[in-house]
Amino acid sequence: MWLRASIILKAIIQVIILFKQQRIFRETSHIRHTSPARKSCLTCVAVLIPFRNRHEHLPIFFLHLIPMLQKQRLEFAFYVIEQTGTQPFNRAMLFNVGFKEAMKDSVWDCVIFHDVDHLPENDRNYYGCGEMPRHFAAKLDKYMYILPYKEFFGGVSGLTVEQFRKINGFPNAFWGWGGEDDDLWNRVHYAGYNVTRPEGDLGKYKSIPHHHRGEVQFLGRYKLLRYSKERQYIDGLNNLVYTPKILVDRLYTNISVNLMPELAPIEDY
Ligand code: BGC
Repeated sequence: MWLRASIILKAIIQVIILFKQQRIFRETSHIRHTSPARKSCLTCVAVLIPFRNRHEHLPIFFLHLIPMLQKQRLEFAFYVIEQTGTQPFNRAMLFNVGFKEAMKDSVWDCVIFHDVDHLPENDRNYYGCGEMPRHFAAKLDKYMYILPYKEFFGGVSGLTVEQFRKINGFPNAFWGWGGEDDDLWNRVHYAGYNVTRPEGDLGKYKSIPHHHRGEVQFLGRYKLLRYSKERQYIDGLNNLVYTPKILVDRLYTNISVNLMPELAPIEDY
């Protein structure tokens, strides 16, 4: 009896999601068509989403983000950068790939580096960039809405194109979970920037629960982090090698890449 009720409820929710998505499809068919002739645009935001095996998260993510970005009157596009192959997940390198591809695609002022399972709780958490790099996801439900440590820079962050180029992007050498966001924090500070965060509860996020099967911790991260400064300008946007497969969907651009450690070796420090 309960089983049947929960199956029916799930089906109803699916229908509602599909219905809402159809409406968003219709309303947002213009969002990808940003003018290539544009020279600069202060409200143009490329949202980069590193991705592997989380297909169920995408509709929830878009349903949440699109109305919020529209309300904020931003011009935006989503780039989902999907890692294929069997190497450990490399979130940072996927962001570097997404950045290069987004720059080829259009003119952007601001780039948001966004985990697919992070949903902003407050739609006034403004996704534009400023004078300083920004950490949007300051208060996560999974950390009881408390910043786990002062230098935490994970989940959702944003830099202008100029800031991201100046710091040489993310490191490519972090294979597996952890550390790449800490390295980005170091890079930003070595380049003379500070990080800003949303005031009060504006930076609250919910995370979509998921399994962590197949996720490997990157144990070499502490060693690499000790040499952030030395590595900053030898590992990043300037040594990135990849061959993408690009598929333009109605809501987003899918960039799939098979990343290889030999193309971005871990330096022996
Ligand atoms: C990792 C970061 C992560 C943070 C919070 C740190 O130990 O190095 O990558 O974001 O924990 O989970």
